[in-house]
Amino acid sequence: MKRTCYAFALMAFTLSMGTMFGCTPLAVRAIHEPFHPSSTQQITLSAEAESTRGIAEISIVQRTLTRDRYCAPYVAGECLPLPTIKETTVQTCQIEPPSSPASCRALVGPFQDGSFVTYGARAKDATGMVAGDQWIGFGVGAQADPSEPIAVYVRSDAAKAVDVVMVPVDYNGTPGRGPADFASDARRLIVDGYLAHAQITGNRSKWNFYLNPATGGLVRSNISGTEQRSITQPANWTRIAATANAAAYVHHDATWRDFGNFGGANGVGQLTIQAGTPGTIVHETGHAVFGLSDEYCCDGGIISTSWPHENMFTSLAACQASATAHGLPTASCTQLTTTNGFCGGADASGTPILGSTDLKWRQDTASDLMGCGGNNGAAGGILDSERIQWYYNTL
Ligand SMILES: [Zn+2]
Repeated sequence: MKRTCYAFALMAFTLSMGTMFGCTPLAVRAIHEPFHPSSTQQITLSAEAESTRGIAEISIVQRTLTRDRYCAPYVAGECLPLPTIKETTVQTCQIEPPSSPASCRALVGPFQDGSFVTYGARAKDATGMVAGDQWIGFGVGAQADPSEPIAVYVRSDAAKAVDVVMVPVDYNGTPGRGPADFASDARRLIVDGYLAHAQITGNRSKWNFYLNPATGGLVRSNISGTEQRSITQPANWTRIAATANAAAYVHHDATWRDFGNFGGANGVGQLTIQAGTPGTIVHETGHAVFGLSDEYCCDGGIISTSWPHENMFTSLAACQASATAHGLPTASCTQLTTTNGFCGGADASGTPILGSTDLKWRQDTASDLMGCGGNNGAAGGILDSERIQWYYNTL
């Protein structure tokens, strides 16, 4: 039976149901540029909307004097409860005739140093249905406390969100490596990496992003011929640790192999990410925040956690039990070997560079979020997605 998108929309079915029946449900996404404006810069607020039924109108809304619930935890003095909510529609775009996708933009500001700007967007489709993407907050210019991470895309109270602080590594003030370059690089990682990912884009209201004002470092050492990689935390680490779920160290070293370390239930996960490689950041966040294991051979290890929905197994029996529970044939369980899921290549003698065969069993397919590097921008597999959803539900 052919079902129309219209019927499902009227019944207020979810985005995933709409997708299931071949529709593009009504969705709108708002973003701003530059990510961390100075007190002299204007800011472009933009929104993109799509719907199978066509977009008829998009409006961009700014919200002021309402920092009590949507304030950034790191921005001093911005969390005073205020008695009135003031919304200003800064731009309304009529799309005539209705079409999809459609966009709208507005120029606002400049705003004074220390301001916290909150905005969002609403879209109306050709049938009159409305959807919104609100509210998004960001800090402007110099903050009152120079040690605080700076809000660049903040959606929710910190306790209800995944808080990620981007830490600059090699931004030394030379051309291309100044503070504005760091903000621009971080924006690309956040917009093209996090917000573009299948397990995040529809849950973007559960994510807060910040820029750290102090630099961190990457450290290489050689122990018995094996390179060890570690991190030097920035001087303001206690300020990050107070709220963050993850710190992402942004660098330009193409020879550095990025990694993510699990932060645990109450700790701060740490990951490294090469600027300009947004496809990798959600994979590393899979380790650092969600506690997911690599699904390739052989140096990732099983991340030890008591959390449910593990994505790798130490025994065939455990993998098969999971497969059965998911309605999959037990034959879907595959043991990782250097030729089956191996990621890192081999030396001239055929010896794996990264390690040897390990005993992990995989149920998810190889080409998913936690698979080998080339698939890092991919959606999570069944088990990855279950873990991520479980994590969201704990927030
Ligand atoms: Zn990995």
